[in-house]
Amino acid sequence: MKVPQFIPYIGQEEYTAIEECFNTTWITEGPKADEFNKKLREFISVKYGVFAPNGTLALYLGLKALGIGPGDEVIVPDCTFIASANAVEMVGARPVFVDVNRKNFQIDVNDCYRVLSKKTKAIMPVHLYGMAANMTEVMNFAKKYSLFVIEDAAEALGVKYNGQYCGTFGEVGCFSFFADKTITTGEGGFVVTNNEEIYQKLLYLRNQGRIARGTFIHPEIGYNFRITDIQAAMGLVQLNKFEMIAKKKINIDKLYKYYLKSVEEVTFTTIEPGSDYIPFRVTVLCKNAHKLMEFMSSKGIQPRTFFYPLHKQPCYQYLNQNNDKYFPNAIYGYEHGICLPSFAALTEEQVKYVCDTIKEFYDIKR
Ligand SMILES: *Cc1c(COP(=O)(O)O)cnc(C)c1O
Repeated sequence: MKVPQFIPYIGQEEYTAIEECFNTTWITEGPKADEFNKKLREFISVKYGVFAPNGTLALYLGLKALGIGPGDEVIVPDCTFIASANAVEMVGARPVFVDVNRKNFQIDVNDCYRVLSKKTKAIMPVHLYGMAANMTEVMNFAKKYSLFVIEDAAEALGVKYNGQYCGTFGEVGCFSFFADKTITTGEGGFVVTNNEEIYQKLLYLRNQGRIARGTFIHPEIGYNFRITDIQAAMGLVQLNKFEMIAKKKINIDKLYKYYLKSVEEVTFTTIEPGSDYIPFRVTVLCKNAHKLMEFMSSKGIQPRTFFYPLHKQPCYQYLNQNNDKYFPNAIYGYEHGICLPSFAALTEEQVKYVCDTIKEFYDIKR
């Protein structure tokens, strides 16, 4: 049996929606994008939103709209996809890494005091693997030190923390619609804010320094961050499927917990109190994790490690933040963590096969 890490949940409905763009010949950002934008904002209860070509550029746009640039520092958790830090580097600022907690690998706010400096301008909590970071602590910390909060919610669309949607706590929240996110447009990103001034900046920045198209007078310097209506058409169908996809993913997590409950070598990460959980990936901590992953691969399963700690990334050695002693939990996560396949179309039979393979590795009688 083959169990890939991810397959996007797309089908005939998305295909038909895309065809409509060809029939109307409207393929650039237009009516479908307007509708998708409105529905997304309604969905997560936020006032303003603009699209970006992908999640990385959504973060870049958000940071830029906050005026963050050279000389500034932004606090980023050590365990995240590298795009979180790359967006900071891209605006010319310095990413400053902090450790994560050991129960669910979200940002550890207690470690933020260590790196706080006069240059610190913002904190970027990442809502990792489908649950929220501890936003009570993040918001208190940011308020105390007058920092902007830019949320990387790429893996947490539709996830609530104490009843409020991820991405709507800070000045800016960013989402991704890459193929392996909860809903996808192939590539795509979305930046949200409740602040009108930030929204205006986002509009100028993404549309060549003007508000409307069709004029060639540009009050500011901006760029092209548009998406296509082909992507938006797909996004509208995907958004309609959101509840179904979330339900399937939540059920997959339950199945893994059921089939692995007798395996003491495997423990599940725990859900942050107050947070919903729509598994981006089902994440477990395992004894001999890397050997286990090799074994799984030999049996046709595609596991993934947790994210490689940013402080250890070859490309970030120039930052001189590579002292392992400050990041015990991010290192622990990389050494022991496994992301199990958890895409919506995964069958119970496949989940059972993955669990049986894990049991076989630990030589447990099935
Ligand atoms: C996917 C992802 C991004 C970047 O999104 P892209 O659309 O791939 O550029 C950023 N941060 C996190 C945590 C992600 O998972």
